[in-house]
Amino acid sequence: MTKNKTGKVYLVGAGPGDPDLITLKGKSLLQSCDAVVYDNLIPLELLVALPEETEKYYVGKKAGRHTLPQEEINVLMVKLAREGKDVVRLKGGDPIVFGRGGEEAEFLRENDIKYEIVPGVTAGVAGPAYSGIPVTERNQSSFVMFLTGHKADEKELTSVPWEWVARAENGTLVVYMGVNEIEEITARLLKAGMAPDMPVAVIERGTFPTQRTIIANVKQLPEKVKDANINPPAIFVFGKVVNLHQTLKWFEDRPLFGLRVMVTRPARQAEDFYKKLRQLGVEPLPYPTIITNEFVDYAGWDNFQKINTDALWLVFTSENGVHFFMKQHRERIGDIRRLGAFKIAAVGEGTSKELAAHGLTADFIPSEATVACLAGEMTAKFNLKQAVIMRVQGNLADDTAEKILAAAGATVRPLTVYETADAVWLEGLKEKLVAYPPDVVVFTSGSTVKSLCRILSEDTDCKKLIEKCKKVSIGPSTSQVIRSYGMEVTLEAVTHTVDGIIDELLKYYEKNPFTREK
Ligand code: SAH
Repeated sequence: MTKNKTGKVYLVGAGPGDPDLITLKGKSLLQSCDAVVYDNLIPLELLVALPEETEKYYVGKKAGRHTLPQEEINVLMVKLAREGKDVVRLKGGDPIVFGRGGEEAEFLRENDIKYEIVPGVTAGVAGPAYSGIPVTERNQSSFVMFLTGHKADEKELTSVPWEWVARAENGTLVVYMGVNEIEEITARLLKAGMAPDMPVAVIERGTFPTQRTIIANVKQLPEKVKDANINPPAIFVFGKVVNLHQTLKWFEDRPLFGLRVMVTRPARQAEDFYKKLRQLGVEPLPYPTIITNEFVDYAGWDNFQKINTDALWLVFTSENGVHFFMKQHRERIGDIRRLGAFKIAAVGEGTSKELAAHGLTADFIPSEATVACLAGEMTAKFNLKQAVIMRVQGNLADDTAEKILAAAGATVRPLTVYETADAVWLEGLKEKLVAYPPDVVVFTSGSTVKSLCRILSEDTDCKKLIEKCKKVSIGPSTSQVIRSYGMEVTLEAVTHTVDGIIDELLKYYEKNPFTREK
C-alpha cells in the first residue's frame, strides 16, 4: 500500500525461537505493517502467518553469500519508509542486544525517518529460563553480564575484559556468539583465575523444541562442546546458577521432545496444529505447500437464491468449503435462517468441526471419510429423485460425487467457493529446510502432497530430505495420493483430524522413542 506520508520503521524483537515469545505489540505490528525486513533467526511460524499482501524482504544468510551488508539493509529500510510504507524490521531476540538495532536507529534518525524500538525476549535470558536456569538468584548470583564472544576484528576477542569478568564469582556470565571461540575464551577465563570447576551450561537453539543443554565445568568445556557437536545459535552460561538446571528443568521433559515435523497445510488452518505439536515438544516446521484463495461463483450463488424445493441439500467435503461458503453466505445472503431449508451432509471430522463453529450440525455423515462413500451412502439412504444438491467445493474437486448423485436422480449444482494454488516459499526457507531437516512430514490432503512434489521437483537436496522422512497421512484418500508418488505411508490417522495425527505420532514414538544423532 503506498501512502503520501513517509512511513515509520519499527525495530521489533521476535524473541529467540518460540514464536509465542514475541510481544503483543510486536505481533500486532506484524499484522498491520506494509513491509517486513527479516533475518535468519526469526521463528518461521511468525513469517508464514504474515498476511499475503505484506511485502517480505529476507536479508539473512543465503547460499553463496553471508548476510546482506548492514549498509544495504539500512538503505532498504529508508527506501521503503520513503515510499510511505510502515516497516517492521524483525530481529531475533531483542533488537538492541547484540542485534545492531542501535546502529539501524541511528541511520534512520540521520535520514529523518521516524522509528520505534519494540523490545523482545533476549536469548540470554530466555534460553536459560527454558533450561531451568535463573540468570540471577538471591543467594548465588546478584548480577548478570551479557557478553559477546565474537571476534570484532577477526583477530582479537572483542573488547570484553575477560580477565576482569573471570572474577565474577557471585554472578552470572552469559556469552553470546561464542561457539567458534570457546576454546580461547575458556583459556583466558582460566588463566585469569576462574575456578576450573565453575559450572557452565551450553544452550543450543534455546526455546526451540530442539533445544539442547549441555552441562560442564569450565575446564571440560571446549571438549564437551566439540563432542556434542554444538552449533550456533548457542549461548554459554557461566555461574553457580547452572547447578539449578538439574532440579528446575522443565522444557526438555516432553513426550515428543526434539522431533521435527513438517506441516504442509495452509498456515491459516495450521496455527492450532503448530501449537498442539509444540506443547508435546515437537518443533513444527511450517512449510505450507498450498494456499487457498476465496473464489466467488456468481452463477452458483444466483442458483442458490433461486432454488426452491422441499428436498434441498448442502454437501460439504472440506473445512475450507465451510469457511468460504459461510463467509460468502454472510456477505451475499445475510440471514442465516435461509440455510434452515437445507439438509446438510459433511465428509471429514475437520468439516464437521468447522460446521460446529458456525452453529451447524450435519444431518448426514458417511461411514468412511471419502467423497465416493458420501455419495453412495446418501443415495442408498435417501430418496434423491426430486432433490437439488448444492455441492460446495474447491476448484480442484472432481465429479465423482456429482455422477453418483445425478444417477440417483438428483440435480447437482456445484458451488465453487475457493481455489487452491501452490504456495511460493519465502526466501531463505529452502536453506532452512536443509539446515534443520524434518523427521516427519504430515499431509492433510492430496493437494498438499501434489504441491510439495511440484515445489521440490527442481530441488534435489530438499527432495532427498523428504524421501528420508516418515510420511504421516490424515486418512485413506490422502494416503492414496502419497503412494501414487511412489512414497510409503508410515502412519495413517484413524480419526481423520490433526488430533488423530497427533495420536498416531504419540503411539508410534512411545514404542520407538525418538533420539537424534549428534
Ligand atoms: N538479538 C539477539 C542476539 C543476536 S546475536 C538476542 O537478543 O537474543 C546472535 C547470538 O544470539 C547467537 O550467536 C547466539 O549466541 C544467541 N542466540 C540467538 N538465538 C538463540 C537461541 N535460540 N538459543 C541460543 N542462543 C541464541
